[in-house]
Amino acid sequence: MDRVKLTIDGRAVEVPAGTTIYKAAKELGIDIPILCYMDLKDLNIENKPGGCRICVVEVEGRGNLASSCSTNVAAGMVVKTNSMRVINARRTVMELILSDHPKDCLSCAKSGNCDLQDMAVKLGIREIPGQEYAEMSTYRLDTSPSIIRELDKCIMCRRCETMCNDFQTVGALHAVNRGFESVVAPAFEMNLEHSPCTYCGQCVAVCPTGALTEVDHTSKVISALNDPTKTVVVQTAPAVRAALGEEFGMEPGTRVTGQMVSALRQLGFDYVFDTDFAADLTIMEEGTELLGRLTRFMEGDEEVKLPILTSCCPGWVNFFEYNYPEMKEIPSTARSPQQMFGSIAKSYFAEMIEVDRKDMVVISIMPCLAKKYECQREEFSVDGNPDVDYSITTRELAHLIKQANLDLAKLDSDDFDAPLGESSGAGVIFAATGGVIEAATRTAYEIYTGKVLEKVDFEQLRGMEGIRSAKVDFDGQEINIGIAHGLGNARKLLDDVKAGKSQYHAIEIMACPGGCIGGGGQPLHHGDASILKARARAIYAEDRDKPIRKSHENPYIKKLYEEFLGEPMSEKAHELLHTHYFDKRKKIFQV
Ligand code: SF4
Repeated sequence: MDRVKLTIDGRAVEVPAGTTIYKAAKELGIDIPILCYMDLKDLNIENKPGGCRICVVEVEGRGNLASSCSTNVAAGMVVKTNSMRVINARRTVMELILSDHPKDCLSCAKSGNCDLQDMAVKLGIREIPGQEYAEMSTYRLDTSPSIIRELDKCIMCRRCETMCNDFQTVGALHAVNRGFESVVAPAFEMNLEHSPCTYCGQCVAVCPTGALTEVDHTSKVISALNDPTKTVVVQTAPAVRAALGEEFGMEPGTRVTGQMVSALRQLGFDYVFDTDFAADLTIMEEGTELLGRLTRFMEGDEEVKLPILTSCCPGWVNFFEYNYPEMKEIPSTARSPQQMFGSIAKSYFAEMIEVDRKDMVVISIMPCLAKKYECQREEFSVDGNPDVDYSITTRELAHLIKQANLDLAKLDSDDFDAPLGESSGAGVIFAATGGVIEAATRTAYEIYTGKVLEKVDFEQLRGMEGIRSAKVDFDGQEINIGIAHGLGNARKLLDDVKAGKSQYHAIEIMACPGGCIGGGGQPLHHGDASILKARARAIYAEDRDKPIRKSHENPYIKKLYEEFLGEPMSEKAHELLHTHYFDKRKKIFQV
């Protein structure tokens, strides 16, 4: 590749042709300030609209300033990144952005974690001239079950649009309107509920302002904890324990399972349980369904639907309900672990402790925004009483812990309560891409072959590549497995299934990068693979440390079947643990 020599701030540098000035400056250790630009290298995603113009630089011989994120280097170019003209231009740009921005930093959900706020500090903005232009845009608020859009806080950086379209291929967000009315919004009725949005929350994870935030349920949790008539039960998803510590300054991948349990107990939850228990239950149901379909397939049943698709990710469920409704018979009917947990907590466990389900509040702590939507789906309630009342994210839990003045790092380790707090290592690995299918393989292998697995670690199912495939030998019967994380990758596998070209018996799909460890409700990771890998390592370490590593060996799961459910896929199990899917387009557009 041709190389280009140029000078930046008086220092010579040589870079490949086609490099932007911004990246060439980085080679010299010069950090040009950026706002709209986003480079998620590990996800192969780059957002460089050159729109905000915070990254402008002076190029000798050029009349106007150049946005460094979208201007390529040229031979002999002389660039200044820090001249007074540049600094003045950046401040002016920032003042203009702020002149049309709400001044509610004190109560904004992003306060303290806002790129716009940080940039205002960095550029030394102390007053905002041109106040006569203030808030020219028409104030609009769009509330969905999972995500809130405060459109007057949109600065048109278009990062969300890039994540929604380029990475996820969801197509819910696009730039619309002009001038002060320009925003990134769903195309049809300008609200997320009437759009293809999956609520994966990846747009929220990259928004540099408070324009996109999660629906905050922490005040509802506080109310429940303060209500003496309620028994408040909490479940924690596996991915939370591998990331919560980051909100308290710990290194990515620090396991805080015991301290998290301790914090939840101090917050006043009556029972601290683990979604991993329900992940084990998911394997019992989904694994049985997989084996049932495989057996029928091998017996020559032409009606059987293969590949079976995992169904524990509600972002993914929303995606196929909108994009592939004609294939809605293919995914497993098993509910997600969050919903299995809620259903069992408000039936089996409520009976056990003699509490009416209406007096029990089930809270879930999830890495996920789609779970907020999922627990509001009508089919997951009994007479209007939801199986899971509120779902809060890892970030929201961190806020609650901080509000209670608890220092996570200093808390003693504590254990989950029984019976719904006991889990196998297989339940834990649901957090990482490939983990659900590995957990299912551990159980399905032993049930199918009648043999004990010599090695429970299926390394071939692990990794961070967006699409992976592996073959697992079930004692002479080869099982083909596909894995995808990120909905753009999922779409590729699904298109093959739709075209009848898929060779897989089973496919695991998770909507977020790296699976739930990179969920939209986790501490922000900006697609950084080193953070995602550290979290995944923590998850696999937790699995290794568990005395039981296969779901079907969890003694409390066995007891649940003996005392309450009967067999996997029994009528009762179907009623409490399985679901059905909708054509979401029909549902949204009422056709
Ligand atoms: Fe939620 Fe996990 Fe799916 Fe992301 S991958 S949408 S965090 S369930």
